[in-house]
Amino acid sequence: MASVAVPISRTPLRGLAASLPARFGTGLSPCMTNGLRFSSTFVAGARRARPTAELGRRRRETAWTRGFKHDVKVGGSGRKPPSFAFAFDIDGVLLHVAKPIPGATRVLKFLNDYNIPFILLTNGGGKHETERVKDLEARLGVQLSTDNFVQSHTPFQELLEGPNSLRDKTVLVTGSDYEKCRSIFKEYGFKNVITPADIYAADPTIFPFQPAASFTTPSQPLPKPLYSHPGPPNPTHLPSHLQIHAIFVLNDPRDWALDIQIITDLLLSHAGYLGTYSPLNNTPHLPDRGWQRDGQPALYFSNADLLWSAGYHLPRLGQGAFQAAVAGLWKRVTGGEGLKRGCIGKPYRETYRFAERVLAGHRREVVRAMGGAAGVSGGGESGGGDSGDSGVGALERVYMVGDNPESDIAGANGYVSEEGTEWVSVLVKTGVWSEERGGKLEGVFKPKEVVGDVMGAVKWALKREGWDQEGKGKELD
Ligand SMILES: [Mg+2]
Repeated sequence: MASVAVPISRTPLRGLAASLPARFGTGLSPCMTNGLRFSSTFVAGARRARPTAELGRRRRETAWTRGFKHDVKVGGSGRKPPSFAFAFDIDGVLLHVAKPIPGATRVLKFLNDYNIPFILLTNGGGKHETERVKDLEARLGVQLSTDNFVQSHTPFQELLEGPNSLRDKTVLVTGSDYEKCRSIFKEYGFKNVITPADIYAADPTIFPFQPAASFTTPSQPLPKPLYSHPGPPNPTHLPSHLQIHAIFVLNDPRDWALDIQIITDLLLSHAGYLGTYSPLNNTPHLPDRGWQRDGQPALYFSNADLLWSAGYHLPRLGQGAFQAAVAGLWKRVTGGEGLKRGCIGKPYRETYRFAERVLAGHRREVVRAMGGAAGVSGGGESGGGDSGDSGVGALERVYMVGDNPESDIAGANGYVSEEGTEWVSVLVKTGVWSEERGGKLEGVFKPKEVVGDVMGAVKWALKREGWDQEGKGKELD
């Protein structure tokens, strides 16, 4: 079994700035060194997770190829999809405090009409994709589909498949609303989903700061009792007790104290049996001194954003702050060990790869729906590459429009497409970044262009694609 020491938490999480992996050219990331890949070496206890190559293959077979097959709409212009596409962040780009940012609706309608593929790529979460898309359609007044919508936890569904599937295993989920998190994971297909509230309700002494009488959070009975035998884990007793195989943070947790207590307990446990303490912890001659080396559950975060733009006039702490708290505490508890965990969402490459596949699929489906395979229009004809049997040509460029240099921009700048697609980063000023707060736009955080808002971003891209010379896109003026 390979062992990999993950040098995380040696840099602050703001951090991601200073700690992106080597392929981003700025050092190491807390998560990306091996975490995101769900690899078998990600964490000692994560051997149930699939290696990256298998994940990639399954994606091509399942979610990636769902594309727009079933509800592809051909825009009114009747034009074939061009060789470029867009990926939009939502908060701070299309919406601000749940209200559309001026120009957002017009832009999306324009793209729909001209069959210019786009995907909404958000680090947000906390609702099932169908519910979120309905909500977005109502707010933006634009027809959308779950097929062009990726939120932070969407890729967790990949862990349902394959020989190491978590489908029938017991997993712990947390986020802004425990029951909502449970329901999302159940809808994804995870069969045994428990929350911190279930654990607290089973034994309130696990978190003594919460008076049991005032704990009103909904909970459900645990499938098995918690281990409560004193002394080292007893192999005879273990099988009849609750074992947790993975921990998922779906979106921004609210009850940090309870969540961190239980997550820490599990990371200290023997093989995820809550209530045990691993005999390998703090063993000097073992790799990582034995921490997270005893089959503990893998820990996954869906969103590394430290800050986000909300109703308050200054950015607010996000899930990345919770992650920093867990990692900081782990360092103290272990006397300096880095926390091994997996991260998805922007700026991690898996999310961009997911988006690119969906966009490419959309272009093919639109051309098929139009009944032709005669190449593409706009922005230069494309010579090949992708296309399969559709003749649609390669997807040459994707414009990533975002408001966060550390996620949207860094992810697009650092992503290297296997298909040769160029990702062009465009930063808007309607969200979390502002010149006044001194956000530095250097290195991997430097966008190709800074514009006022999403309308400016799309106009800039269209001009770059030569659409202004062809007289197209005047509807946006
Ligand atoms: Mg944003």
